[in-house]
Amino acid sequence: MNSHMPSQLIDRFGRTVEYLRLSVTDRCDFRCVYCMAEQMEFLPRSEVLSLEELYDVGAAFTRLGVRKIRLTGGEPLVRRDILTLVERLGRLPVELVMTTNGSQLPRMAQDLARAGVSRLNISLDSLQPERFHELTRTGRLDKVLAGIEAARSAGFKRIKLNTVVLKGRNEDEVLDLVGFARDSGLDISFIEEMPLGQISEHGRDETFCSSDELRELIGSRYPLLKSTDNTGGPSRYFRMADSESRIGFISPHSHNFCSECNRVRVTVEGRLLLCLGNEHSVDLREILRRYPGDTARLEEALIQAMAIKPEKHEFRLDEEPQILRFMNMTGG
Ligand code: SAM
Ligand code: SF4
Repeated sequence: MNSHMPSQLIDRFGRTVEYLRLSVTDRCDFRCVYCMAEQMEFLPRSEVLSLEELYDVGAAFTRLGVRKIRLTGGEPLVRRDILTLVERLGRLPVELVMTTNGSQLPRMAQDLARAGVSRLNISLDSLQPERFHELTRTGRLDKVLAGIEAARSAGFKRIKLNTVVLKGRNEDEVLDLVGFARDSGLDISFIEEMPLGQISEHGRDETFCSSDELRELIGSRYPLLKSTDNTGGPSRYFRMADSESRIGFISPHSHNFCSECNRVRVTVEGRLLLCLGNEHSVDLREILRRYPGDTARLEEALIQAMAIKPEKHEFRLDEEPQILRFMNMTGG
């Protein structure tokens, strides 16, 4: 690295980037209604970063001060040989975490914990088998519940459930999901749906459910105490007096969290996305493939990219989505 270069990733607004969300595949065994279209075209293999390239990206970010890497996708556990990447990243001085739909956890939870994944986020939008199948289009609830059980026995430091709440589709299950999290000793975050990609099954303004509504609903059953807990992500946390479980809210619409943004994403095509809600990006694949092994050049590109990190996202629900990439292409 050039000696004049800063060794940290700091953007124009003084925000330090310490958190990388690294997408390891755009593919998935589910087709969740808010995330994907029913018929999806996935990337050809030549356009996808190899496991080696993904590692090089993770390692470069770590050298520049990133302290947390979240592996995501698509479904990270459907990427072939993903464990070899997890093992290598697990040896870096970084907190390694993963977001998964849980379907592959019955066979993989132990190995993930052993390879150095410390915390898991598992998506769960319904506890009703038929509805779960409708929302995921292909998923089976029993498999995911078995995956959650496997994860609980595997010794992760913490497990959090993620629920996207859609009015008229699953908002009537919010209290059941909180009850499930409490009984299982897990945290749970409720996410406002984001307008990424054109979807067919519902209008996003019709199904929008704000975090404030949910907080009121949950608070009427379990009084919620504001918590200063911060896991380095966008969730705002609350505690309950009689449980270890925490309730989080991810509210890109109602509580814009951009001023505290500490993260960037890298898609599986090697596109460094500076903001979830904007298209500002840098093509890292081009650098990786044109100058293989040139770590200084890669680091320089990451540092320079900080100059185009936007101040904030502007999501609107009542218009066509401005962001045409789907969440599985974004690395949610
Ligand atoms: N397949 C894994 C999973 O489902 O957990 C990881 C990738 S998925 C894209 C990551 C998270 O993004 C999931 O919790 C999912 O519910 C959420 N998500 C997907 N599309 C979304 C959208 N349009 N708005 C809000 N959250 C979304
Ligand atoms: Fe797959 Fe996750 Fe998207 Fe659902 S939210 S389709 S599980 S990538």
